[in-house]
Amino acid sequence: MSRQSAIATVTNYTAPKASFSFADTKPTDIFGCNVFNDNVMKDRLPKDVYKSLHKTIEEGAKLDPSIADTVANAMKEWALEKGATHYTHVFYPLTGLTAEKHDGFLSPAANGNAIAEFEGKLLIQGEPDASSFPNGGLRATFEARGYTAWDVTSPAYIIENPNGTLLCIPTAFISWTGEALDKKTPLLRANQAVNGPAQRILRIFGDKSGNRVVSNAGPEQEYFLIDRNFFFARPDLQMAGRTLFGAKPAKGQELDDHYFGAVPRRVLSFMMDAEHELYKLGVPVKTRHNEVAPGQFEIAPVYEQANIATDHNQMIMTTLKSVAKRHGMTCLLHEKPFAGINGSGKHLNYSLSCAGHGSLFDPGENPHKNAQFLIFCAAVIRSVHKYSKLLRAVVASASNDHRLGANEAPPAIISIFLGDHLSEIFNKIQEGDSPTPTSTGFLKAGVDTLPPLPRDAGDRNRTSPFAFTGNRFEFRAVGSNASIAGPQVAINSIMAESLDFIADELEAFMDGDESKLNDAVNKVIKDIMDAHGQVVFNGDGYSKEWHKEAVEERGLPNLRTSADAIPEIASPEVVEMFTKYNVFTKEELESRKEIYLEQYNQAIVTEAALVEKLAKTHIFPGAVRYQKELAETCANMKAIGIPFTTDVLEDVTEKLRAMQAATVELKKVMEGNTAEDPAEEAKYLCSKALPAMLEVRKYADLLEDVVADDLWCLPSYSEMLFIK
Ligand code: ADP
Ligand code: MG
Repeated sequence: MSRQSAIATVTNYTAPKASFSFADTKPTDIFGCNVFNDNVMKDRLPKDVYKSLHKTIEEGAKLDPSIADTVANAMKEWALEKGATHYTHVFYPLTGLTAEKHDGFLSPAANGNAIAEFEGKLLIQGEPDASSFPNGGLRATFEARGYTAWDVTSPAYIIENPNGTLLCIPTAFISWTGEALDKKTPLLRANQAVNGPAQRILRIFGDKSGNRVVSNAGPEQEYFLIDRNFFFARPDLQMAGRTLFGAKPAKGQELDDHYFGAVPRRVLSFMMDAEHELYKLGVPVKTRHNEVAPGQFEIAPVYEQANIATDHNQMIMTTLKSVAKRHGMTCLLHEKPFAGINGSGKHLNYSLSCAGHGSLFDPGENPHKNAQFLIFCAAVIRSVHKYSKLLRAVVASASNDHRLGANEAPPAIISIFLGDHLSEIFNKIQEGDSPTPTSTGFLKAGVDTLPPLPRDAGDRNRTSPFAFTGNRFEFRAVGSNASIAGPQVAINSIMAESLDFIADELEAFMDGDESKLNDAVNKVIKDIMDAHGQVVFNGDGYSKEWHKEAVEERGLPNLRTSADAIPEIASPEVVEMFTKYNVFTKEELESRKEIYLEQYNQAIVTEAALVEKLAKTHIFPGAVRYQKELAETCANMKAIGIPFTTDVLEDVTEKLRAMQAATVELKKVMEGNTAEDPAEEAKYLCSKALPAMLEVRKYADLLEDVVADDLWCLPSYSEMLFIK
């Protein structure tokens, strides 16, 4: 049986030696060696071309198309030297995956010869045959095909592979009439959108430099590793990314002995290899450790500008998967591969920054900077409260639903953790001038009088979906499998809207009189706390009391499932906000809503089919064989006159019957799925199919606990999680 041979292979495995060390190769020789980065460009491009390109990359200036041929040629020469034979426009369709189509550099020439060719127009624009990517009716409505457009701001890179080396060019994927068909395009738009409003605030606080405000992201990536042999013995993992069956192991994660413990050798060897690959690609991965669940790990890079960080996170996910294969393992990025055990998320560390200021969420060294910091925080408070449904919607997926709202991840209720010190300051400002100095010596908010703010968040509340962590905010609801683009598009856009709102308010109050800045800051913060302060919550986000208080007293939405949440990305209020900042058109939002609902529905339909099939083809046969053995033993014993109890036989029989009945019921439920509208279908699947699937699982898992081990063909939780 594949399960037994999997165990044998796992037992005989020996880990290879580490792939590199800095004693052999200098860090500078490894890091970014496969990236067409600034150094390479400076080296290989004529000065004026380099300057023009640099301006586009650094300052967001328009790309001068006349330099494209020169850049393309330099890029080609560089790639050929690195061993590349093909190039690809890498793009990020709405599936959340990374897509590529390869083209050879080789072009036939006269007399049966061939040359390596790569012109500017091939660099700037490509046309993937992408008709099978989801478009939510967009291209059907507007134009038949889309094209990929070179994203100058994200450097090209080489993927080395013994089976063929490839030049990868990051691109945006757009319809011929300009609609975004991907994850990158709106992110580029949203990065641009937040710049203006943020600069308005900085101007009010006296910075007239006009320096660009950029958003940054540091995504902490969680993942599971299991031996590949187990993976292939689990059709549910292969097809759905998660186990649809599996009894709880006797030893779960209760003991917490895995978290931050020594990394198993085999995993360490995998991590070294993965990091090596990522270094070469210029991805600044920094930390690694065991996570809470057995078999679960985390890798985190140093934060970078949003667009680069997003591409790099996609590269991290791809690399983890491919390197795991080399090590005989499978990397599971699903948010909840194992029921009853911690799921995987992606903490998205978010900040805005600007040359001369650093992070705008960093409390400053002086009161003036502190007031500016409080204003940016106030913008977060207002944004997160006003658009909390949107924030829930952009992390919604069938897989992430198993995490959000469960008992370990941030809850589906979106709130902000500020920490006690910062909360106290906001509360004091809300209450108005505080006549009695508090323990922190706080008197009155304002540019002149504010006390120094804490530079560290102090206690770390792990239960909050949106937490202030010293110089940034951490959005913890993002799924491990998801692109971080969507959440950043949302955060940047809602921040743009709030910063504009605040700038309007400040300007109206001051009416040109700069000496009124103090009072204006106080008033705006007070107003925002009055209207939105209920979103601030420093307590335990998992507790029952909070769920009650959040919904009943504070009126915060609790969109428990994706079926509830996804439609919010096209609510009238959200459409108004996104269109105001040219991040999305109404049509783009409608199409995305439809695509995400369809993805949700498809995921559940696939899982339901798998549950039915595995129940019939994997669980049932093993249990029936055991039943037969028991029955035969009973009959034999009876025949020779030895008393033998039939308890176990009856137990197995009863559970088998119950599982069969549940399977029939699930089939009925799926046949009753006749909704035509994706939103309606999502509601149906969520409320009917998921519980019906769980019912089948319930009896299958009970059987796993009683059926003879050698007759059970699916690898168990403890085998998958504990064998390294
Ligand atoms: P923890 O697990 O304690 O939250 P990690 O070191 O695992 O911390 O991850 C923190 C992430 O936050 C890193 O990717 C780090 O680079 C990033 N980060 C730090 N400062 C900022 C900032 N100002 N803006 C965005 N991300 C940041
Ligand atoms: Mg962390």
